[in-house]
Amino acid sequence: MNIILIGIQGSGKGTQAKILENRFGWEHITTGDLFRKNIEQETELGLLAKEYIDKGELVPDKYVFEIVKNALNQAEKGFILDGFPRNIEQLKFLVKNFEIDSVILLDLTDDKAIERLMARRICKICKKDYNILFKKSKKPGICDVCEGEIIRRDDDNKEAISKRIEKFHNETKKVIEYFTEKNLLIHINADQSLEAIHEEIVKKLSV
Ligand SMILES: [Zn+2]
Repeated sequence: MNIILIGIQGSGKGTQAKILENRFGWEHITTGDLFRKNIEQETELGLLAKEYIDKGELVPDKYVFEIVKNALNQAEKGFILDGFPRNIEQLKFLVKNFEIDSVILLDLTDDKAIERLMARRICKICKKDYNILFKKSKKPGICDVCEGEIIRRDDDNKEAISKRIEKFHNETKKVIEYFTEKNLLIHINADQSLEAIHEEIVKKLSV
């Protein structure tokens, strides 16, 4: 099964991708991970990409496409694409080269996403993540693992969060439109428990 997973930050997208990967063997693929892996392994494409990243420039699409294509071709049981495609060029490349079975959209209102992101916390010392809404530490403000202080990340302020949400909508609008027209878009209610979200996905994919 080849899937694209779309969800606003705070929708639990990464967690859902991991659960699906573990259960069905579809590979969870994000461009960030692919770049890291290729740079670590010093592949030709990794080294090329690194030159741009080190200069603080965007990696040209042709290299991104090569890296994505290699990874998708190697995903024998299928893939869950996360954070790609982000624009029309990437979308065209993807549908030209690969069969997409379903596009899952985790529905969460902007207000809910903001509420969840504002509730995120992290341990200052060991970086374990918490959420004061649904992933609390045993003692308030103190890390369960190392007893470090639990703080809010700098980039989880309202202004930064709103900017990320706006960027998300800009990047995904055309992609969502395209797959809606192709009748491949599946809406999932992301305002429920992790287990319930997962079961809704499985049911709607009929797997
Ligand atoms: Zn800690």
